[in-house]
Amino acid sequence: MNYIRLKKNNLLVDNISASSLVKKYKTPFYCYSYSQLKKNFYDFVTAFKSIKPIVCFSVKSNPNIALLRELKKMGSGADVVSIGELLKAIKAGINTKKIVFSGVGKTEEEIRKAIEKNILLINIESESEAIQINKISKKMSKITSVGVRLNPNVVGKTNKKISTGSKDDKFGLNFNDCINLCKKINKMKNLKLDGLSVHIGSQITNIKPFKQVLVIINKIIKKSKINFKFIDLGGGMGISYANNEKKLDLNQYAKLVKKFLKKKKSQIIFEPGRSIVGNTSALISKIIYIKKSNKKNLVILDAGMNDLIRPALYKAHHKIIPLKKNNKQILRNIEFVGPICESSDKFLNQKNFSKIYEGDFVAITDVGAYGMSLASNYNTRPKVAEVMVSGSKHKLIKKRQSLESLVNS
Ligand SMILES: *Cc1c(COP(=O)(O)O)cnc(C)c1O
Repeated sequence: MNYIRLKKNNLLVDNISASSLVKKYKTPFYCYSYSQLKKNFYDFVTAFKSIKPIVCFSVKSNPNIALLRELKKMGSGADVVSIGELLKAIKAGINTKKIVFSGVGKTEEEIRKAIEKNILLINIESESEAIQINKISKKMSKITSVGVRLNPNVVGKTNKKISTGSKDDKFGLNFNDCINLCKKINKMKNLKLDGLSVHIGSQITNIKPFKQVLVIINKIIKKSKINFKFIDLGGGMGISYANNEKKLDLNQYAKLVKKFLKKKKSQIIFEPGRSIVGNTSALISKIIYIKKSNKKNLVILDAGMNDLIRPALYKAHHKIIPLKKNNKQILRNIEFVGPICESSDKFLNQKNFSKIYEGDFVAITDVGAYGMSLASNYNTRPKVAEVMVSGSKHKLIKKRQSLESLVNS
């Protein structure tokens, strides 16, 4: 069951009707289901329970600190890609021995902080970075645990803009460079090579690329003769956005990893983002105007691409549902758009939709991952509020940015 769903033509989030929330919170706002978050995290852990992975939630998918605190309570670690995310994860109480640091361009300041905080792994993406981390570690009289990020040249069959594991992408090291760098790192006195990491992209719903990655990792292990303490398989597990879209079968993935681990002592790390938070949130928005144009009904929302950029940036599909569904009448040929001065500020086309009027409310669904985290102030619009519903209770977990703060800078 999904905790954000229509029940008797009313949109419910956990046990609260979204219609009651719009009386308390100004739209647009992100509304999260705590029950869904908990279900997703524990479903993930359960699917992989035979291999007991360290689950490092990908903070970039959703950096809300209240959400991070909840995930921490469930036992999550964190995958961070900046000093800001690192400090936030620590502030949320996440054990530093469950934090991994990824990214192609870590600065000296970021590396220093990661070393100072004794995190589990810094995943290295180039020889220059290895030299830099070794140098900083030496200055700090530390021996730093690092991983090497392999670019397995596996195409995740996902949107080009969210693919990271093909040889043309900027991430990681190709097969031979990876092995050579492992050898070099083993000679660097202030580095300890503990991990091998991969992350091939996001929203991958087919098991095949994950299977191919495991084959390539096996080859690296054989050729380098290194028994990595940690194998970090990254994230990328796809979820279902459209009605007929299948999500990645985590149980099938778990079977593959279990087989892969036979005769190995490595500990698996995962860095899921989207699969943990994607379907935990809806962006609740008000219809400002409905304008007829070329036989189309343009439904102009108070939410725009600055609040949710995925449709404009990735052509991502997000279902839109009314807070109160009208079963009897329909509105045809709808285009949901935002108020931003950009033609790409569009959310969705619908042939048929429940009859809606100006002043009604709708929910843009499955926006928990890369929704708020990619929001901007474009058009001098404040970032919207975030609300968490748990059972029959709701609370503000992030305030709407004040207009003054924007107007004065
Ligand atoms: C973005 C990212 C993730 C999370 O990916 P999802 O598709 O959200 O699961 C994990 N690891 C790394 C290195 C990333 O860059």
